[in-house]
Parts: sequence; C-alpha cells; structure tokens
Amino acid sequence: MSWLKSQLAPCLLLAAATLASADTLYLKNGIYIVVKKAEEKDANIEYWVGSTKYTIAKSAVDRIEAGNGPSKLPISGSGMVQDLTRRETAGLAPTHEKLALPTPEAPKHTEEYWSALRSRITTGDNIDNMRLAEIERENDSRATANAFFLAGVMQMQRGQVDQANGHFERAIQATPDQPNLLQWHAIALASLGRYADAAYELERATSLTPDSVDLLRLLGMARYDADRTADAIEAWKKAQELSPDTKTEHLLRKAERELRVEERSGKKESRHFTLHYQGDRTSPRLQSELLASLETEHQDISRQLGYEPSTNIIVILYTQKEFVDITEAPSWAGALNDGKLRIPIGGLSSMNLEVERVLKHELTHSFVASLGSGRCPTWLNEGLAQIMEGRSSSGVRYELSQLFHDRKEVPLPVLEGSFTRFSSLQAEVAYAESLAAVEYLRDRYGLGEISRMVESIGTGESSEQALRNSTGLDYSGLERRLAEYLAR
Ligand SMILES: [Zn+2]
Repeated sequence: MSWLKSQLAPCLLLAAATLASADTLYLKNGIYIVVKKAEEKDANIEYWVGSTKYTIAKSAVDRIEAGNGPSKLPISGSGMVQDLTRRETAGLAPTHEKLALPTPEAPKHTEEYWSALRSRITTGDNIDNMRLAEIERENDSRATANAFFLAGVMQMQRGQVDQANGHFERAIQATPDQPNLLQWHAIALASLGRYADAAYELERATSLTPDSVDLLRLLGMARYDADRTADAIEAWKKAQELSPDTKTEHLLRKAERELRVEERSGKKESRHFTLHYQGDRTSPRLQSELLASLETEHQDISRQLGYEPSTNIIVILYTQKEFVDITEAPSWAGALNDGKLRIPIGGLSSMNLEVERVLKHELTHSFVASLGSGRCPTWLNEGLAQIMEGRSSSGVRYELSQLFHDRKEVPLPVLEGSFTRFSSLQAEVAYAESLAAVEYLRDRYGLGEISRMVESIGTGESSEQALRNSTGLDYSGLERRLAEYLAR
C-alpha cells in the first residue's frame, strides 16, 4: 500500500464517532478509515479528512461505504479473504476461508493528546525509532505503551504489519494487561497469518474483560481462523448468550456444520500443535489429554532451553502396525521425530506417565531441530531429549564407567550421526553415553550453555568447535572428563 500523504493517526478512528455524515474506506488489510468524502480517481482513491486530501491506491481498498464505520463489528460477509498459503495439513482435513478481523477503536484520549504524541514520534512522515527509544528510556510505562501503540496503529494504516506487530509487542511489554492493546496486537498477528497467536492474545483480552461481547466475537473469529473450530463455537456461543446477533448466529451455525466434518476427518489443533489421528481409534478425551500434555511440556522445555520454535508442531498418532509400516523405523524405536512427531499409541485409552515421557522426548527433538537448524549431532540431541523426559544415567552408571575404563566406549564423533543404523544393543549404549555426556555438560556448565551450543551449531559452527567454545574441551577431552565423572 502506498500513502502519498500519511499523517493518519488513531485520532481519525476516534473522530469517527463525532462525524455527522461520512464515508468509510474499508481496506483489504482489515483497517477501516472514516473520511469526510471519498472518490475514485484513476488507479487511486482520493479522500478527505477535515480539509486535507489523501490518496491511496485503489488496489488496497476493499470497498467504500456511506456512514461512519461499521455500526457493529462487521463479522460476516465483509472482508472474507481466501487464505492462499498452502498448508502442510491441506488435504488431511477441510480448510475454510479465513475471516478478516475488524479493526478495533483507538483508546479514549483527546485528539490533541494523540497529535502531540504523533509529532513526538515522527520525523517527516516516518516513525522515528530513536524517538520511540527516548520515550522508552524515560521509564513511564504508560507513555511508552501509548507511543508504541500509536506507532503500531500508524504502521497498520500504512500496511506495514510486520513493523506494527513489533510496536504492539513493545507496548504490551510496557503495559501487559490492556485489552485494547491485546486486541490490536491480535489484529496485526492475524494479518500476518499468525492466527493461533492472535487467538492467544484475544484469550488474554477476554480473560481481562469476560463480558465484552465484541472481544468474544473477535475471539471466535481468530480461533476459527486458527482452525480451532470447537473453541470458536464456544466463544461465539458465549457472545450470543450476552447479546444475540444474527451475523454471529450465522457464523456459529456454519462452524458447527464444519466441526461435524472435521470430527470425521481426524485433526485437532492447540496453540503450538496440530494433532492428526485416526478418528475411530482415539477418543476425543484422549486427544484433548494429549494436546494438554504437549502444551504443558512445550512450556517447560521453552523455559529450560530459553527458546521456543516459531512454527506449529505436527503430531501424528499411529497404531503400532501403521507406525512400523509408514516410518520403516527399526523395531526398537518407540517413537520418531522426522520434523513431525510420530507417536505409536496402539491400544492407549488414556494418558499415562510413559506416554508423557515419550511425548516430551520427541518434543525436545523438535525444539533442538528448530534451535540447531537440523544440524545438532545425535549424541547431544538424544542426550537432551532424555534429560527432558526425566531420564538419568544413574542406573547404568557402573556399566558405562566400566566401558570407559576399558576404553570400549563409542567415540563421540561416531555418535554424531544417526543411531538408526545401530543394532538394539549398540543403540542402548549410544543412548546411555549420550545421556551421560549431556548430564555432565548440564551439571558442569548448565542447560543455558548447552542451548547456546546447539544454537551456534545451527549457525554453521562444527559440533566440536561449538563444544570447545562453550567448555574449552574437544571430543577426547570431553570423553576423559566423562570417564572421571562416571567413575565418581
Ligand atoms: Zn530421541
């Protein structure tokens, strides 16, 4: 989108309420602008705010309507946009068109307040990040939040959604519990296609103001866009109880129809996961338990590694036979992670500790793959996964210690590659050594340092060099230390 003049600010949206007669420009990015008058001219739309004329490319405008903005949230029929991104899961389950989330109002302040702030954070037409930083340094969280909020809104109006998103994040850091800010952030996230994150922000916003019908309607839309149809239905139902509305009713019925199809197709989503399963083989209760476990584990691993992958993780549940057929995994493998978590759950009817461990182990591999860009050596990867699942080498410490004493350990460079080529006995030794090596590193240097190692391997550093940078040890040095550690 190109603005020839872009002195727009949220005060325009505020002004909406006071304009007697007006037109509204609905932009394709979900923003609307209330103007005095709007006219088509060649490839542009010219519009007037006060006595100032602005121009915007016609291609950025969805439509122009008389009146000063939507009287209620334009939920249905307006701004339906086709989601053109091909998803990995397409074909496995029906996908639906995305709903464009309508833009919220700016917070209540006087117009003078916002124009003063606007002059303060801009140089010419541009948002001046130095000035934003200046305001931030004054340590007034309210002023900081407002400045970044305004910068975010201005960037949204210019179609710079990425920058807007960053500004909203800073504003929320300054004042975390502002429903209006969370709402704007959600709109930016949805515009970036990050529907799951948008839904999460709106969940925070609705928990702060549970009786806001508008927020509940929006939450339903974001959840619907995140393919969380059942949760969307829940939010819309709540909104309908508080204040019935025909558009919401329409969406609700549509979502309920889709949910019935979805339930037959075998797919379920949560904030960080997309779960695929064979419909008649796992109960909805087990699916929910699995997702809940995965979410808890996700949180725990993020905290321990100080890192979180940016994309949704795909989990596929198999009966035992399908698992071996499809993955061609060696017979000793319990589960696999080849970018997707492939978990055999034959005969499982409810969660148990063993399944939780398996999930956490495989999930750790997803974190490591993301943090290390798929370059992490297997010993480090498997060692970390075992630590995260709660395993300890103490039970095999004596045997391991003997192995190292007799110099019959598998050398660490050999453990850089895949273990799937090993016999089951060799694999057992390989896993035990990996676990002991990472335990040693954790006890001596901490998980944070290990996380940094994986990250630097991800940037192209060799595993041994990354080890040396973090610990001063090369592989043979680590093996000597490990022999001493195990002998203690
Ligand atoms: Zn593993």
